[in-house]
Amino acid sequence: MDKLDIEVLSGKLDAELIKKDFPVLSNSVNNAPLVYLDSGASAQMPQSVIDRINHYHQYEHANIHRGVYELSEQATISYESVRSTVARFLNVTDTAEVIFTKGTTHAINLVAHAFGRTFVRAGDEIVISHMEHHSNIVPWQQLCEEVGATLKIIPISDIGELDLEEYRRLLSDRTKIVAVTHVSNVLGTINPIKEMVALAHAKDIPVLVDGAQGAPHMKVDLQELDCDFYIFSGHKVCGPTGIGILYGKRDWLERMNPYEGGGDMILSVTFEKTTYAEIPAKFEAGTPPIASAIGLGEAIKYLESIGLENIENHEKVLTQYATEALSDISGLTVYGTAPQKAGVISFGVKGVHPHDMGTLLSDDGVAVRAGHHCAQPVMQRYKVPATTRASFYLYNTLDDIDKLVDSVRSAKKIFS
Ligand code: PMP
Repeated sequence: MDKLDIEVLSGKLDAELIKKDFPVLSNSVNNAPLVYLDSGASAQMPQSVIDRINHYHQYEHANIHRGVYELSEQATISYESVRSTVARFLNVTDTAEVIFTKGTTHAINLVAHAFGRTFVRAGDEIVISHMEHHSNIVPWQQLCEEVGATLKIIPISDIGELDLEEYRRLLSDRTKIVAVTHVSNVLGTINPIKEMVALAHAKDIPVLVDGAQGAPHMKVDLQELDCDFYIFSGHKVCGPTGIGILYGKRDWLERMNPYEGGGDMILSVTFEKTTYAEIPAKFEAGTPPIASAIGLGEAIKYLESIGLENIENHEKVLTQYATEALSDISGLTVYGTAPQKAGVISFGVKGVHPHDMGTLLSDDGVAVRAGHHCAQPVMQRYKVPATTRASFYLYNTLDDIDKLVDSVRSAKKIFS
């Protein structure tokens, strides 16, 4: 693929221009311009999000839902309006189905506790996949240990696709929930969620989708996917840390017991008995990260102004370009080569430890992730201790990829 083809393909998105919206990306690291290829861990924030958060702190800050004074009412309006922004982003209509959490990990723990302790019993089964992030493994494992249920694992193929035949076989009368990632944070595989949800629903089994790597990178239409829970983090969609979203179907949320107890989630409290608020408040105990929620709303508006389809298309082009260029390097293996793949490339170079690779790239200003990426079972599946991972976003350019490839080549030379 040459550069001219690529410019035509990603024509609707000018990454050079977009880059200018992100102040951190004009910085230098180790006397080299920063090449940020770790958006899979955390995306950068555009100036509009930083400004919106500052504005809240400077002019709007007050606790929400309780004050009768103007400032608190304004803060409440700003916070609550983000629920509608998120509902539009996910194409759902009922804003009460949008719950603010601290992030993906917190949201999955919420469901594992609230759904798990309400519906899962000894002898039941929970189906997850071999490519899950630890956040979508450990909470379910803890639940299983507590109630005496069993985890069942959907295997992955050599190229990094889920084995759907085995998935069908795993769905049984004992299955209480399926919890699966939309996109693998290591392999980049985009899973066929719509099909998987339909198969589970045919047996009345609800499905939770970990959208931490899905929502930032493609248009998510929950009316189309029809999953029961969809979860993502603010800091991966160009928003701040400390905020995430749990979308849940009203029927499930209403039948689930609360997760955390405290202020805001109650209707009435006496020493004899507490009754709970309606959703979404039932799952939002305590003062939430108000500024972060408002920042998340601004981040979503920013992504929508660029267009999620344009972002997805741009990342596909970058991924194809990078895969071709990296594959030309002898001794380099890419882990995860499924045809349906998002902007994540995990690789290893013979004779170079992934951590050494990450450090040498950093010397050139190239920021990538090295390690097990909180997905140790994936490392076990491919029999590697770690990988180096480059992940792309809307502000990455072909020049960024060229710098990555040059830097990998130089690192390899040092070890040969
Ligand atoms: N799931 C996936 C697929 C992820 O990539 C991540 C973040 N690396 C998480 C869950 C956890 O997200 P957070 O740390 O924001 O809770």
